[in-house]
Amino acid sequence: MTYFNIAIDGPAGAGKSTIAKKIAKQLGFIYVDTGAMYRAMGLYFLRNQIAANDKASIEKSCQEVNVTIEYKNGEQNVLLNGENVNGLIRTEEVGNMASASSVYKVVRLKLVELQQNLAKRENVVMDGRDIGTYVLPEAQLKIYLTASSKERARRRWSELKEKGITSDMNEIEKDIIERDHRDMTRDFAPLKQAEDAIYLDSSEMTIDEVVHKILELYKIQKEKDV
Ligand code: C5P
Repeated sequence: MTYFNIAIDGPAGAGKSTIAKKIAKQLGFIYVDTGAMYRAMGLYFLRNQIAANDKASIEKSCQEVNVTIEYKNGEQNVLLNGENVNGLIRTEEVGNMASASSVYKVVRLKLVELQQNLAKRENVVMDGRDIGTYVLPEAQLKIYLTASSKERARRRWSELKEKGITSDMNEIEKDIIERDHRDMTRDFAPLKQAEDAIYLDSSEMTIDEVVHKILELYKIQKEKDV
């Protein structure tokens, strides 16, 4: 049996995970958050005081580290050497380390295998940077979701504000642009729109409008598929 795979790629802060989660829920698919896997690796490097530019140590530790996924009550748990690290990977520090260490091929290959195995066994909505181009090139529906860097910074800023954290919107935008650049220019599996991906700019759209649009595209694709 072939499972239906939806790939959602795009730059940081485009709303991929919020949207992918909602779509997965509506369709009864599994949501696979690949960024969380890179974050778990980042946490391991931080804990072990391995610098992002220390390629040799990163390569060596890839042999020791084990990232796995389990699903409990529909929630994805990321396990780092057996420990559930979901509650530890959402910090800026871990995000920056994930962004810097994900440029290494050895790190990516380790996680790509896990991602491909999940998609072989389930209907999935998988979000990341290289899903449509590299991880699941055969995905039946591919979306490239983006928004202007200004709008992405504004969303991040208001998310932080809601949590009672004051931040500088210009600094956030600078950080977003830097991460995009790193993701788009790395040698191996960079962030880019797959040729057969549908481009969606959500700058002027609400979350529900984006979800609705993707569900419509899914229906069209599903009919073609049978
Ligand atoms: O999406 P999220 O911010 O959680 O991802 C953390 C980092 O992991 C990103 O900044 C990106 O550099 C990297 N990443 C990646 N490929 C993916 C998912 C995430 O390189 N498929």
